[in-house]
Amino acid sequence: MLANAHEYQLASPQSGEPYLLTPGPLTTSIAVKNAMLRDWGSWDEDFRAMTAKLRSELLAMIDDGRNEFDCVPMQGSGTFVVEAMLASLLASDSKTLVLVNGAYGERIVKILRCLGRDHVVIHKGDYLPPRGEEVARALRDDRAISHVIVVHCETSSGILNPIAEISQAVYTAGCKLLIDSMSAFGAIELKTSEIRYEALVSSANKCIEGVPGFGFLIARKSELEASKGNSHSLSLDIYDQWQTMNKTGQWRFTPPTHVVAAFMEALRAHRDEGGVEGRGERYTRNRDVLVAGMRELGFETLLQDRWQSPIIVTFFCPSESNFVFEQFYQLMKDKGFIIYPGKLTVADSFRIGCIGQMDEHVMGKVVEAARDSLHELGVPDAAPPDKALQERAKLAVQI
Ligand SMILES: *Cc1c(COP(=O)(O)O)cnc(C)c1O
Repeated sequence: MLANAHEYQLASPQSGEPYLLTPGPLTTSIAVKNAMLRDWGSWDEDFRAMTAKLRSELLAMIDDGRNEFDCVPMQGSGTFVVEAMLASLLASDSKTLVLVNGAYGERIVKILRCLGRDHVVIHKGDYLPPRGEEVARALRDDRAISHVIVVHCETSSGILNPIAEISQAVYTAGCKLLIDSMSAFGAIELKTSEIRYEALVSSANKCIEGVPGFGFLIARKSELEASKGNSHSLSLDIYDQWQTMNKTGQWRFTPPTHVVAAFMEALRAHRDEGGVEGRGERYTRNRDVLVAGMRELGFETLLQDRWQSPIIVTFFCPSESNFVFEQFYQLMKDKGFIIYPGKLTVADSFRIGCIGQMDEHVMGKVVEAARDSLHELGVPDAAPPDKALQERAKLAVQI
């Protein structure tokens, strides 16, 4: 039986607009989109009030009871704020240990190279988690290391890295931790009372479910104070942005006004859903329905359940020669779902995001669409090649 594309599209909030099963930009609510239908003067008091509220609401999510942290928004995509954090918080005589298990960790290494900041790397391949014990060992072996940076959810595989044990190892060694929590912040707790770190970064278009246009840094004030003069860049200088915002309530250069207005609406919805906890619960249900349904079709996940984040899931491509990812992608799109290609070197794969304006019923539809698309391709069984499973088994024993 062929799927009726129209039936899926009716399920979409924008009737006809496909769901983005991608880790940002993602599907936003009508209310978020509507919030952009008005122009704001960046200098005006109303807009400055929005900026102030945005900062305090983001800070509230880390539950900083002692008021030791501050929030600094920065124009641009997420990578801009990662670069701004590294350029500003790492002094020229710092040495950073980068924990890499995917594309976003690799990007951090590239940025440090561009910035000329001394660094060493623990490479874990495509999807193995860096463990506290090996971080501790690396820090013992090289006393010159001052900072460690880790990606919270490595979006290229969907792995949730063990931040708590890494933090423990970092501070036991007297070092400082920075976190790229881009795709996790807002859905996975990072309370300062539970996990010690100096700074995290995230952006508007991930788990808060806004539209793209800015990122934000949440950092210990003492680190912000100490960052004066570190940045090589004017536009990415966190210290300067922070000082100006505190003094004038304004962004230094043109802010993405409509994006900020949309973000205020996204924050309201986040609060109404029960904050970080409620958001995380919906994404977890999304993931569980998706994974169970896809496994029933014969698909296999790259990760063991223990490491699988509720943000995005990597599935191996089926071994059947009739399965061609580009065709599968198009068939899924025809049914109202935009999926995401994989980023693995070990085996062909694709990814399906669990974040954005959708619930478990939509995820049920995603599984139906995958089933119908396989049928249309003439793929009776979605089982991956033995090679992929052997690779996964081989590496699993190392964790
Ligand atoms: C999305 C993302 C980024 C930033 O990517 P941009 O394309 O610059 O927005 C950085 N790190 C992680 C883990 C991400 O998921």
